[in-house]
Amino acid sequence: MRATPNADTRPEIRLRSQLHRCGLRFRKNYVIRTPARVVRTDIAFPGKRVAIFVDGCFWHGCGQHCRYPQSNAAWWLAKIARNRERDLEVNSALSTDGWRVLRVWEHEDPFATAQRVLRELADP
Ligand SMILES: [Zn+2]
Repeated sequence: MRATPNADTRPEIRLRSQLHRCGLRFRKNYVIRTPARVVRTDIAFPGKRVAIFVDGCFWHGCGQHCRYPQSNAAWWLAKIARNRERDLEVNSALSTDGWRVLRVWEHEDPFATAQRVLRELADP
């Protein structure tokens, strides 16, 4: 759980340093104004139109790690369902606007993710 959803998280920072190590230059917290909505990405390659999100296991409902708190379980369930719905809306707003979207879980290995990013960028 993170107290301030907009602050940089450790998984984002780890992924960014791995991307730097691969010699990649990118923008962090890059804002994209699509016709449908304004989206703040975690990492973006504007030239390639590739947007990356590092989704927190709790807030985005990772099947392996998201455990709803015992109290107010129904409220949390609804809250996380709304977050997931918004993720889909964001994905569709971006892809309609010509962006490729890569979503990774915070639990994923930054090295493996960096390899995926490299492949995505190499794909014309
Ligand atoms: Zn997870």
